Amino acid sequence: MHFFQHKDGVLYGEECSVEAIAREIGTPFYLYSYRTLVRHFETFDAAFSDLPHLVCYSAKANSNGAILKTFISRGGGIDIVSGGELFRALQAGANPAKIVYSGVGKREDEIRYALREGILLFNCESYQEPHVINGIAGTMGVKAPIALRVNPDIDPHTHPYIATGMKKAKFGIDIERAVSWYQEAKRLPHLTIGGVSCHIGSQLTETGPFTEAVTRVRELVLKLRAEGIAIDYVDLGGGLGITYHDEEPPDPREYAHAICEQGKDLRCTFIFEPGRVLVGNAGILVTRVLYTKEGEKNFVVVDAAMNDLIRPTLYGSYQEIVPVKKRKGEEMVADMVGPICESGDFLARDRVMPRFEPGDLVAIMSAGAYGFSMSSTYNSRPRVAEVLVQDAAFHLIRERESYADLIRGERIPSFLEGK
Ligand SMILES: *Cc1c(COP(=O)(O)O)cnc(C)c1O
Repeated sequence: MHFFQHKDGVLYGEECSVEAIAREIGTPFYLYSYRTLVRHFETFDAAFSDLPHLVCYSAKANSNGAILKTFISRGGGIDIVSGGELFRALQAGANPAKIVYSGVGKREDEIRYALREGILLFNCESYQEPHVINGIAGTMGVKAPIALRVNPDIDPHTHPYIATGMKKAKFGIDIERAVSWYQEAKRLPHLTIGGVSCHIGSQLTETGPFTEAVTRVRELVLKLRAEGIAIDYVDLGGGLGITYHDEEPPDPREYAHAICEQGKDLRCTFIFEPGRVLVGNAGILVTRVLYTKEGEKNFVVVDAAMNDLIRPTLYGSYQEIVPVKKRKGEEMVADMVGPICESGDFLARDRVMPRFEPGDLVAIMSAGAYGFSMSSTYNSRPRVAEVLVQDAAFHLIRERESYADLIRGERIPSFLEGK
């Protein structure tokens, strides 16, 4: 459910004409709908009203400060995976007591920063990590709250790059070894055991793998308690999928139902780290057609490219293509491609689409998650603008980068000067 709809054949974000925004700020740009973001957050949060819980939005899906603030102002916490995301979360006003920190490769400076700010939980992903955190906490005279992120060895039936809960993935620790590692962590003087965490993958479209994961985590919590290790938090990660094309993911209520069954008598606070499900369908990428090439294979060349939205290239994923102004007439089968000098630079492949002409505006749907946040400046293309609509008003929430931004921080060593 989102608020991007055609009215009289013209695409609107809430009450704002997409064409009018394009006229004012140029293309390409990301456009997000505030009402959609709020609705997604509230639906997700309300689905768990029967369980003590905290929704920690996964910042990596879209880390723009305005998006973070939207969720923070509704009581959300933030799931971070780097010092940079901690900085962004704090800048956006996040309460450190609602920040959880995941990731396999936390550096010492990042751990120190998170301890200084007093975050809720470090989700540790290796044998060594609790020891490293313990050492740093000791030198700072504080206690670090930790969970072990366990890998429950579950196939989430998703793209291999975003499946994280199987034995062969780099994430988490083997759930079979968890009890003894918890016992060891309990003996470390500068740690407090806060909970158990897991995150089995992204873009999951069935409840089965979630149910399996929570069942396995539940068994572990009971085992740990039997060993005298208190568990206050169970962090079940994110991963709930969305509809890009014809997927039929469970809605948050079904997802919550599957979890509540296993969780309701565990007497702990559940943490969820949704990313995609909150922002994915709340954003689109708006681009303009530059050229069309018809022949044995047809191409529509637009001004957005893989550096702006890499999901099709990286995961072979489907993003729906929609004309901003609907036109009657013929359709064609074409690839929609960008200006980048790579054959992998496509936004859609072999797709039936209107017979676009140069100048037409195109909306690439479901681009709110892992869109801008994965963008780069490859081919020295400045990053695009980001815009938030709220009812009939739109707000620039990130300026389009300039050419000067491209070389910011670069230096020419003195031996090259004057050459
Ligand atoms: C990426 C990630 C998430 C969010 O995943 P979504 O599929 O976007 O919901 C949550 N937790 C962790 C640890 C992650 O790495």
